[in-house]
Amino acid sequence: MKKKLVVLGGGESGVGTAILGKEKGYDVFVSDKGAITENYKKVLKQYEVSFEERQHTEEIIFQADVVMKSPGIPDKVELIQQLVKKGIPVISEIEFAGKYTDATIVGITGSNGKTTTTMITHHLLEKAEFNVGVAGNIGDSFAKQVAEKEYDVYVLELSSFQLDGIERFNSHIAILTNITPDHLDRYDYNFDNYIESKFRITKNQTESDYLIYDSDDEVITGWLKRNTTKATLVPFSLEKELEYGAFIRENNIIIKFNSEEVLMNVSNLKLQGKHNTKNAMASAMAARLLKARKSTIAESLSDFEGVEHRLENVLKINGVQYVNDSKATNVNAAYYALECMDTPTVWIVGGVDKGNDYADLLPLVREKVKAIVCLGLDNTKIIETFQNVVDILVETAGAEEAVKVAHKVADKGDTVLLSPACASFDLFTSYEDRGDKFKEAVRGL
Ligand code: ADP
Repeated sequence: MKKKLVVLGGGESGVGTAILGKEKGYDVFVSDKGAITENYKKVLKQYEVSFEERQHTEEIIFQADVVMKSPGIPDKVELIQQLVKKGIPVISEIEFAGKYTDATIVGITGSNGKTTTTMITHHLLEKAEFNVGVAGNIGDSFAKQVAEKEYDVYVLELSSFQLDGIERFNSHIAILTNITPDHLDRYDYNFDNYIESKFRITKNQTESDYLIYDSDDEVITGWLKRNTTKATLVPFSLEKELEYGAFIRENNIIIKFNSEEVLMNVSNLKLQGKHNTKNAMASAMAARLLKARKSTIAESLSDFEGVEHRLENVLKINGVQYVNDSKATNVNAAYYALECMDTPTVWIVGGVDKGNDYADLLPLVREKVKAIVCLGLDNTKIIETFQNVVDILVETAGAEEAVKVAHKVADKGDTVLLSPACASFDLFTSYEDRGDKFKEAVRGL
């Protein structure tokens, strides 16, 4: 008899898993508590996968041999608890898909910088002529690609939710960009739980695997002191020279594995900002471990254009540069954005705050920000923290209004930076929507 695969959630990873499951001979059923988009319904019909929406039919779901839970569904929900109680394995898309590919996996996680580092690493490997696929937040799901493509290497962006659902999945090269508090609502408001979840990326690594990580990040180094991993540790640092790994000397990126090599000067990196230098170092080491040539890596890092909504230069109008960093949905991301600013800055900030503490930003705001434009429904915390620090603070409730106000207060030579440090759901449908509306408003000035 065919094995039964139940897929919970009919989005990108759910539909991809359904396609792969079908191809591998499973009897597949997709169930979504909400609505499934027309687009995905069409795909499911095309692959003859049965599905339901706006409900979970437990009689069918409890018959599953294995359940794939989409990352958006919290572990806490009753249905998942019941599945676990019944001893039915509940896994994530990468666990399911990982079984069906022998490709070398470069897995990337962290609180910030996952997408950017994933895209850079993919770019480096593609330029080095690897047969390489990329999955995560961008494009087709990993599972769909495993069903339909024959890549030798995958670069995968892995959220903690994806990692929570792994048993055997392994990354030959894992990158851990950084760990700062995020998504704590899904981790019982316990930072340690979230840290453990991120470190699941190394749980199945063996002596022949590598863990690339930010050794300036005390949360990461703290965990590594208290715990062990079999993988070879490959640190990177902006602050100190290392015995092994990547570091900066005289503004050059040095990679030191068996011997020391100068990769390139930091000023030749296309993506600016300390955080992007770190992302570049991590990506470069991954590519180097896979034997990409140094010169190809350096060349690729000097032409990588960046990812939309991440410190994206939009336009310069009357000498004012407008920057869209809508993806900065937490304080740490906004910190690095502000740190990059080398002109007086009009900062557009606000939205749905996930328990933010803005105090870390005070020195940077004092130094660089001439005006704050709040873009959110509840701006109380921002006002309380910064009202005595900046001369101008204005509340707005829409992208167009925010951009107009920013335009008014900005002078030639300034930067207008949208880096909200918050989620977008009070006024927008997503961070993409927020970034798009910002860009539209800028173009309309
Ligand atoms: P993620 O996929 O982890 O959300 P992104 O690459 O989409 O990360 O970037 C999210 C935000 O974090 C952007 O505002 C970006 O400029 C910022 N960022 C990128 N890399 C880092 C990093 N290494 N440390 C801190 N912030 C970063």
